Amino acid sequence: MRTLTKEAQQNLTPDQAVQVLKEGNQRFMNNLKANRDLLQQVNETSEGQFPFAAILSCIDSRTSAELIFDQGLGDIFSIRIAGNVLNEDILGSMEFACKTAGSKLLVVLGHTKCGAIYGACNHVEMGHLTTLLEKVKPAMDRETDTPQEKRTGNNVDFVNNVTVNNVHCTIERIRKGSQILADMERNGEMKIIGGLYDVETGQVTFYEDAA
Ligand SMILES: [Zn+2]
Repeated sequence: MRTLTKEAQQNLTPDQAVQVLKEGNQRFMNNLKANRDLLQQVNETSEGQFPFAAILSCIDSRTSAELIFDQGLGDIFSIRIAGNVLNEDILGSMEFACKTAGSKLLVVLGHTKCGAIYGACNHVEMGHLTTLLEKVKPAMDRETDTPQEKRTGNNVDFVNNVTVNNVHCTIERIRKGSQILADMERNGEMKIIGGLYDVETGQVTFYEDAA
């Protein structure tokens, strides 16, 4: 697998970038890792990097974007925070990845059995985690199928619905919060999509929401 060059990054369309991730996840699921010499990639990226995508995923030890999409050094910007929520600094990192460094795709990647979503659903309060989990509240409020008495972290269906809502809420917040990214997406320079990683199968399902 070749290390991305500036030219390869610039010639890639946002839809092709989605395809690269889909193929990478297929390789991962089939245990067909692309042949890469990481030390050679250290050398090839020493003068600069041209990643084609930025991925916001959870800190969960099972959701490393590079591994689950079978990517090498210099391929993707990896942004990680519990519950793949958003804040100003993450928005700034995304603007850097897309506007300054030329990435064509921004993915918000949730995952099943997420401890942060589970904690938010159980109204966990602990130190600085309390403020972080507050950010999952809008995704819980948007879940209107589950009756009051079943809205807890122990209800798998409720947690799953909130997990998916949380991906869509984060995407909406990116579009509302960053004029730079919203403009880039409107002009077709990049695309923002969601995804869900299944910790039992290793499969990523993409949600290609229209802006
Ligand atoms: Zn998680």
